[in-house]
Amino acid sequence: MSFESLGLAPELNRALAELGYAQPTPIQSEAIPLALAGHDLMGGAQTGTGKTAAFALPLLQRIAQTPPAGGPRRPRALVLTPTRELAVQVHDSLRAYGKYLRLASTTVYGGAGMQPQIDALRRGVDILVATPGRLIDHMERRSVDLSQVQVLVLDEADRMLDMGFLAAIKRILGKLPANRQTLLFSATFEDAIKKLAMEFLRDPREVQV
Ligand code: AMP
Repeated sequence: MSFESLGLAPELNRALAELGYAQPTPIQSEAIPLALAGHDLMGGAQTGTGKTAAFALPLLQRIAQTPPAGGPRRPRALVLTPTRELAVQVHDSLRAYGKYLRLASTTVYGGAGMQPQIDALRRGVDILVATPGRLIDHMERRSVDLSQVQVLVLDEADRMLDMGFLAAIKRILGKLPANRQTLLFSATFEDAIKKLAMEFLRDPREVQV
């Protein structure tokens, strides 16, 4: 199994080859074709399985294929993560995989100044990686417009719920277009996660490793 056979764009395959990724991990070979086909996903995967690339690659491909609306660029993909550390890691991965695509991305998280984040959002982004609490702050200040989001990723959804982000997540999801793709990744699938998925995913495919 090779990355080429999964249907990824040449720009992505080139970046992966440079990173030394010879072949997809199991979660990647299962999730990538389903996500590229437009399905919502429930992915069961721990850290270390390659789950980041499993959602990042199809996300990048989809956003690169669809032209932005006119005017300043507003996020067309949103990734929610439980912590600042994970937000930074996911953002770094998106930049590395998307090196040969002309996409702008940024990350917003708590414990850092608002103004640089507001400035980055104002300059225009295609992809936004955020922690839920800080994203709510930006929504309240109207420094972010989520009306163009086509792909939503909930990364480590179980940890986000454990950290008490359920209300924030629901508020954020309420501002997103209903017609979007949602990719939910979680190490566990306890009832609260299943409930969240039933409410916000459409006919999801399940992938487990
Ligand atoms: P993750 O589970 O997303 O945190 O990824 C774990 C580590 O595996 C990261 O350091 C990735 O850079 C690396 N990785 C992900 N996919 C592959 C792959 N297909 N081949 C080699 N390394 C990979």
